[in-house]
Order: sequence, then structure tokens, then C-alpha cells
Amino acid sequence: MPTVPILALPSPLAPRSIPEVRQLARHYASRIANMLTNEDEQPNPQATKETLYPQCLCGCGEDKNPKSRFKQGHDMKVNAWLNNVKAGTMDAASLPLPLVEAARNNPTLKVHDHVVLEVIQRSGNVASHAG
Ligand SMILES: [Zn+2]
Repeated sequence: MPTVPILALPSPLAPRSIPEVRQLARHYASRIANMLTNEDEQPNPQATKETLYPQCLCGCGEDKNPKSRFKQGHDMKVNAWLNNVKAGTMDAASLPLPLVEAARNNPTLKVHDHVVLEVIQRSGNVASHAG
């Protein structure tokens, strides 16, 4: 009996903007294609930074050192965003998808002094200031 690879997809219940959905589709299409074409390739249970963070977590899409989470200096940008989310001046939903996904996969993921998942969860429902 052949082994069946399992791919966990983000919740379809979460509200997403069209660019986010496009980003998701691009991201998962390549993974699905890989799973369909490399039948013998098993997911590595010992995930390294290289497999956990295939792209810069700031979402820039630029090449980075495979051993780091960010292209050099881009962690500063993300640190500023996390500060803004904490301060309530930025919606956590605006954080880049690679960062959010990495935080979900690794709840202890830290950027500078921020535990990313905590920042996202604490932001909760950002009240919209109507009127
Ligand atoms: Zn970047």
C-alpha cells in the first residue's frame, strides 16, 4: 500500500483578502505539485530552519541565507510591525503570511523580544473604529 502524504492547509474559515489567497495558492500549489511528483520523498520529521523557513519571513520573497529566517536586516522591519500590532496601530491580519505560518508551526518563534504567535493572538479582534 503506498504511503499517502498529508498536507495541512490553513483554515478556510479565516477571512482572507484576495492577495492573501493568491499568496496561499502560489505557496501551496508548488508543495502539492512536489508531493504529486516526488512520490518517494517523505517529509522530514527533523525539520530544520531550511525547511521550516524556506523564504524570508517578512514576506519580501527575496533570496535569503537558508540557515536564517530573514534576509539580513528584514527582521528589523518585522520587529517594527510587531511593535505596531502590540500598540494597536496595525492589524495582525496585515502581517506577512510566511511569518504567521511560521509562528503557527513554531509557537515559540521569537523576533527580537516578541513571541510572534503571542502578539498575533493577543491582538485578537482589532476593533474597527467606525465613525
Ligand atoms: Zn524579507
